[in-house]
Amino acid sequence: MLATTMTTKIKDSPFHNAFVDIYGEEPTALSNAPGRVNLIGEFTDYNDGFVLPCALQYSTRILFNKRDDSIVNVRSTQYAGEKDSFDISADIVPGDSQWGNYIRAVAFAFKREDHNLSGFDLLIDSDVPQGSGLSSSAALEVAIGGMFNHACQLGLSEAQIAVLGQAAENDFINCQCGVMDQMISACGVQGHAMLLDCESLETVAVLIPEDLAIVIVNSNYPRKLVDSEYNQRRIDCEQAALKMGVSSLRQADLSKLDSNKGILSANEYKRAHHVISENQRVLDAVEALKNNDMDTLRQLMTASHQSLKYDFEVTVPATDGLVEICAATLQNRGAVRMTGGGFGGAIVCLCRTDDIESITQAVGSQYEKRFNLRANIYVCSAGKGLTVSNIK
Ligand code: ADP
Ligand code: MG
Repeated sequence: MLATTMTTKIKDSPFHNAFVDIYGEEPTALSNAPGRVNLIGEFTDYNDGFVLPCALQYSTRILFNKRDDSIVNVRSTQYAGEKDSFDISADIVPGDSQWGNYIRAVAFAFKREDHNLSGFDLLIDSDVPQGSGLSSSAALEVAIGGMFNHACQLGLSEAQIAVLGQAAENDFINCQCGVMDQMISACGVQGHAMLLDCESLETVAVLIPEDLAIVIVNSNYPRKLVDSEYNQRRIDCEQAALKMGVSSLRQADLSKLDSNKGILSANEYKRAHHVISENQRVLDAVEALKNNDMDTLRQLMTASHQSLKYDFEVTVPATDGLVEICAATLQNRGAVRMTGGGFGGAIVCLCRTDDIESITQAVGSQYEKRFNLRANIYVCSAGKGLTVSNIK
């Protein structure tokens, strides 16, 4: 169960005042869920494999009041001129507000599991950048799920809220994401990365050494036709597992893959090769992180990037270029790879805090010249997962 009472400093904040201005009364509670970065384990989640994400200090917060009726009123400080409103007792269908649909999606997923939901007045605020690979959508879904769970006394675990958030994104938003983003947003432990077994949903908190900095560089490469490519990768993986006679690629190893090479298409073989080798890299990275072993982390993250480039084929010249720039700057003092859904998006660097400045300078002086794009740099620390607290 989630912590339900905590004192907060939210009162008198501009966010709190904005709620009072909109709804004419004080909010009673706050739900808070972070964005995330994946350190290693890419495209393994929907293959029942291992991932190693980390919650960030950036988070999505929702101030709310439960209503006596069934109307849900939705506002976001990021979309000040727009609001959404729907009746939660009726069938949940998509509305006109693009972002409002994420709240409807979570309501849809909870209702489908027969959870009894009431109306709400709510206001969203977030410092998770949207569409930058830090998973603002999962942070929003988990924060909304946390609100429903708390106010409607559903008694759900964090992991159950995560799974419902994923269902919302899969079945209402029509994005076939795995469960990683919602799990780390719901279950992250402050100062730790999280080894997640996507088959059992078991988690292990892995301490991030204090002198290790997490730097995320978003390429701002315009993503095009991404959904069909993303979904095709998923189909290739499922086909490879089917042809090898296993329920998911988690059940296969490299020798099984090689003995089945003849019956797989070239793409199915390459996609499966990435997933199977990446699962092992995640487990090795957990040990390397525990030992603060930068050499091994660098080898694993470099191998992960190469595998994503040549086997899974989801990198683009802009993200390959950012990895090159940062790796050349960090030399043996850091580890770099692309992170997230690919086809653009972000890269992640693990390095010592002294090197943050040199990465920032190198990206600033080289990236725009080479790719005619400006990158955003986020220096991150490991935040904590979902909290829901009453405001006293
Ligand atoms: P990301 O990589 O950030 O998850 P997505 O495209 O999956 O990118 O999700 C971004 C979408 O999530 C936005 O277009 C918006 O609909 C919704 N969203 C995220 N944060 C907020 C917010 N603070 N307020 C309203 N909607 C949000
Ligand atoms: Mg998303």
